Amino acid sequence: MRPLRMVDLELERRFFGPRIEAALSEVLNHTQYIRGPEVQKFAQELSNYLGGSTVVPCANGTDALQLALMALDLQPGDAVMVPAFTYVSTAEVAALLRLQVRWVEVSLDHFNILPEALEDAWSPEVRAIIPVHLFGQAAPMEEILSFAREKGIAVVEDAAQALGAEYIFPSGERKKVGTIGDIGCTSFFPSKNLGCYGDGGAVITASRERATRLSRIANHGQDTLYEFVEVGVNSRLDSLQAAILRLKLPYLDEFNARRRAAADFYDSYLKDIPELQIPRRMLWSTHIFHQYTLRVLDGRRDALRAYLAERGIPAMVYYPKPLHLQPAYRTPAYPEGSFPNAERLSREVLSLPMHPFLSEDQLAYIVEAVRDFFR
Ligand SMILES: *Cc1c(COP(=O)(O)O)cnc(C)c1O
Repeated sequence: MRPLRMVDLELERRFFGPRIEAALSEVLNHTQYIRGPEVQKFAQELSNYLGGSTVVPCANGTDALQLALMALDLQPGDAVMVPAFTYVSTAEVAALLRLQVRWVEVSLDHFNILPEALEDAWSPEVRAIIPVHLFGQAAPMEEILSFAREKGIAVVEDAAQALGAEYIFPSGERKKVGTIGDIGCTSFFPSKNLGCYGDGGAVITASRERATRLSRIANHGQDTLYEFVEVGVNSRLDSLQAAILRLKLPYLDEFNARRRAAADFYDSYLKDIPELQIPRRMLWSTHIFHQYTLRVLDGRRDALRAYLAERGIPAMVYYPKPLHLQPAYRTPAYPEGSFPNAERLSREVLSLPMHPFLSEDQLAYIVEAVRDFFR
C-alpha cells in the first residue's frame, strides 16, 4: 500500500501528467509571467463555474479577505464579526486594517457560526460579518443573511475551504458558496480543493462596480497606468498559477465527488463508534470535504492521533487553539471560557487524510486502525 499523506499532490501530478508541462510551457514561451492571457481566461472560466459572479484574481486567500474589507471602506475602529474557530486569516487582516474583532461562537454540529450566538457578538461598531465555510460545508447563510440585513452590515464569505460547495435555500434554489454574500473570498493554496502550485486567491462579487474597485485596490490603487487614485496593494495571481488552475478547474466537481465518496466510506465504518462524532452533513449545504473532521468525545483525541501516527497514518488538528486565545489576538474582553464550543472543538477535532486519490485499501487500513484503537 502506498504511504498515506493528508493530501497526496504526487498522485495528482501523475493524474495530470504531461498536461502540466504543456500548460506551463505555453507561459514560458510567451513570457508574460504577470498579467498574461491565462489570468483573465481563468477568471472568466471560474466566473462561469460560479454562475456569473465576477472573479478578481489575487495573490492568496488572505489577500482576498484584505481586499474585500478595503473595498467595503471599513475605517479603523469599525468592527467585524468573525467565528472564534477558524484559520487565522480573517482575524489577521482585521488587525492589519485596525479593525476590532467581535468573535462569534460556533456550532458543535457543523463547526460554523452558531446562529443563536449572532446577537451576543453584535455591537454598534460592527460593519461586516465574515462567515467561514469551514472544512467544505456552508455556514448557515439564511440566518446570517437575515441578521446582516437587519443590522445593515455587509457579508464577506470566506470560501477558501469550500469552493464548489452549494448552499441550498428552503425554496430549493442553490447558490455556490462565495456568491451568496456581498463579497466572496477564496484561496488556491496547493492543498485546497482547487489548488495551484504556489500561492493564489480570488475575490468574487456579483457587482461590476465592486469588481472594478477590487481590481484597482489589488493593483496599487491604480486607475490608469501611474495614476494612483487610492492606497492599494500589490496582489496578483501569476500566469503560471493561472495556467495550472485552468487545467484543474474542469475537474473540480469530479474531485469533490471523489472526496465525498471517501467521506462516505469513513462514515460507514466509523459511525457506530460511540466515542466519535462523524462529520454532520447539514441539509442546507452540499459538503465537499476539504477536511474529514471527527470529534473525539472521550478526551483521547491526542492518544488516537499518536496511535495512528505509529501505524503510518497522518491525522491533523485543525485547529488546536481558538483565535480568541491566541497570543496575537487575545484581549481582556474575551478570556478563556468565552466560547465553550470553540474551545471544546479545539480539544476534540481530528482530521483524517482526505484527497481525491485515496484508494479503498488506504481507506480500509485507516478505518481499521481507528476501530482497533477503540476496541
Ligand atoms: C487557506 C485559508 C485561508 C487563507 O488562504 P491563503 O491562500 O493561505 O492566504 C483563509 N481562510 C481559510 C478558512 C483558509 O482555509
